[in-house]
Amino acid sequence: MSIIEVKQLTKVFGHDPKHAVKLLGQGWSKEKIYRETKMTIGVNQASFGIEPGEIFVIMGLSGSGKSTLVRLLNRLIEPTSGQVLFKGRDIVGMNKVELRELRRKHIGMVFQKFALYPHRTVLANAEYGLEVQGIEKKQRRELAMNALKLVGLEGWEQSYPDQLSGGMQQRVGLARGLANDPDILLMDEAFSALDPLIRKDMQHELLLLQARMKKTIVFITHDLDEALRIGDRIALMKDGSIVQIGTPEEILTRPADKFVERFVEDVDLSKVLTASHAMIRPETITPERGPRVALQLMRESGVSTLYVTDKEKRLLGAVTADDASRAVKENLPLEAVIQTNVVMVPPDEVLNGLFDSMAEAKLPIAVVDEQSRLRGILIKGAVMSTLAGNRDASEGGAFYEQRA
Ligand code: ADP
Ligand code: MG
Repeated sequence: MSIIEVKQLTKVFGHDPKHAVKLLGQGWSKEKIYRETKMTIGVNQASFGIEPGEIFVIMGLSGSGKSTLVRLLNRLIEPTSGQVLFKGRDIVGMNKVELRELRRKHIGMVFQKFALYPHRTVLANAEYGLEVQGIEKKQRRELAMNALKLVGLEGWEQSYPDQLSGGMQQRVGLARGLANDPDILLMDEAFSALDPLIRKDMQHELLLLQARMKKTIVFITHDLDEALRIGDRIALMKDGSIVQIGTPEEILTRPADKFVERFVEDVDLSKVLTASHAMIRPETITPERGPRVALQLMRESGVSTLYVTDKEKRLLGAVTADDASRAVKENLPLEAVIQTNVVMVPPDEVLNGLFDSMAEAKLPIAVVDEQSRLRGILIKGAVMSTLAGNRDASEGGAFYEQRA
């Protein structure tokens, strides 16, 4: 079950939100509603589910509705219409006490502006949320210390924010969001104000933290690289609407419309696409079929190399036409002429890291899964065409996967 389920969620800013919702229903655009009524569509009929333990990224240009959407999830903003279910419970109908309980126990938040109090120590900043919630001193101290440790700030408890670098200040913000051990962490452009290198470190650490703590994270960014790097799934917003939800690969390789396509066209695909996207189906043979059959197969399929596997598709090596001819001439079994020095990579290897090995390898690189099974091979043409954004180039790989 989804941990958060959003149904037809809409937020209108202005004097008569219900009227604006009606106009949306009649197909009016955000722009037209603003022009005619001066009301602003913050979020337009968003529906989606967030799974426990995933990093769900909400991405979009400035003004597309990301902050409004994330604030609707913990009701910092009241929705105009629609539902937000947390573990099946509608938070839109919650009273003040229930809502406080929800924010206190289940949902934490980290903001872009670190929002630290300059006259409070790091520790006092980290425990601020707990203090507001009325948690007694000893316990909140303990929780805050734990959270600071998690984000690597042990030893800095008594420092003040201005003694810390930007990255460290944001760690304090992160610790504050984590202090009450929430199920869900909402992060609104949490890393956007950081220097690029520190930002990359923080992304990396967030992934480590996530792997350890298995929190559900809703992460907002306007930066596509960041979204691709950390998102399990990405929701792309435009004018308050969600235009596509998918894994990073799906967004890149199957953009839902022209808007998404334009959003992603400048991405360096080699850093995102993996071996499994570019691999094609190899011709294979099992050794007991012998060198004559091997030669026959090569002639039929017009290739000069066969990949040799056992019956379970585990890769044993490769034979070339020369190898097979030699085996026939010298009356050798196929095993005797198998080349075992085939370069192997896992399916999730990014193409960016493969150029050198591709240039050096004598035979096409084999893509091999954890059980040593051959999933496909990488030939230069298919890799280049995948990188050039030919979105069908991976079809061969997908086809092979179905057959294997
Ligand atoms: P993002 O976070 O993607 O930059 P926001 O959610 O902040 O976008 O804003 C979405 C839209 O709602 C924008 O057009 C913005 O001007 C408008 N908006 C946001 N907050 C308010 C508000 N309090 N009053 C009026 N309009 C608002
Ligand atoms: Mg915002």
